[in-house]
Amino acid sequence: MQVESLGIDIGGTNTVLGSVDSEGRVVQTVRLKTRMQDGPDALVEDIFIQATRMMGERRISQVGAGIAGLIDHRKGIVRSSPNLESWSDLPLKDMLHERFRVPVAVGNDVNAIAWGEYRFGGYDTEDLFCFTLGTGVGGGIVSQGRLILGANDAAAEFGHTAFEGNSRCSCGIAGCLEAYVGSERLVRKAKRRMRLASPLIKLVSKAELTPKLLAQAAREGDEVARKIFTEAGERIGRALGNVVQLIDPEVIVVNGGISKAGDLIIEPIRQALKRYTMPLKGRKLRVVRSKLGERAGILGAARLVEVLG
Ligand SMILES: [Zn+2]
Repeated sequence: MQVESLGIDIGGTNTVLGSVDSEGRVVQTVRLKTRMQDGPDALVEDIFIQATRMMGERRISQVGAGIAGLIDHRKGIVRSSPNLESWSDLPLKDMLHERFRVPVAVGNDVNAIAWGEYRFGGYDTEDLFCFTLGTGVGGGIVSQGRLILGANDAAAEFGHTAFEGNSRCSCGIAGCLEAYVGSERLVRKAKRRMRLASPLIKLVSKAELTPKLLAQAAREGDEVARKIFTEAGERIGRALGNVVQLIDPEVIVVNGGISKAGDLIIEPIRQALKRYTMPLKGRKLRVVRSKLGERAGILGAARLVEVLG
């Protein structure tokens, strides 16, 4: 009988289940609505029913869930999550274990992504820093093959490292990196500039401006759009300089929606990082775009037990 591990990515709107084989391939996925109104038991029940249906005759050996927010990784408790706003101190690990009866782990979503990148990204390293670029900016650290959680399970909050200026961040602190390079900020900035002068205005007359459209425009040579990515990349590269000085990763993996812009943003990151990293003869360090993309979260969650178990 085929044995697979189950990775769960719990989002505010949708929850994705994925079964992963021993080689780290996603065998099958199912997407379901994250039913909030019926309480946490209903969500766990939905997950169990859909997973059982998906697996058929195949057996689940372990279960892992990734979710945004503050997680007690050791106990598998969701302290608070923007995706499950009305629930706090949710003993998700115990609830899932009650149903599946196999080893279960629960972790922060970006930690799950970082673990997926480490285990299955093929980067051949024990020291990796992964960050996600999207509406928010998250981070995950794998150092010497271990996931770094910190004393409060709050390590690697890359998006909320102090950057500059006074832009108020969603976390309440002024001047966080996220307040400068989060996708909403980039879109807002682009809108402001294109109002002044840009052919971009034609593109958005039909559709709402999105980071994807912004990347398309940049690739087609739109100067306003190119500059938005270049500036964001420079800022991220500078912030990453601090990360490099502190934890000395060998590989920095860029994941998340904006990473789809590819070299438009990654090249400026590399250039800035060079300027903000202490020269070191033969330093091992590279910045890469995730090859796993959206699969990283499912893959990492499916194997969280091996690091948190
Ligand atoms: Zn912040």
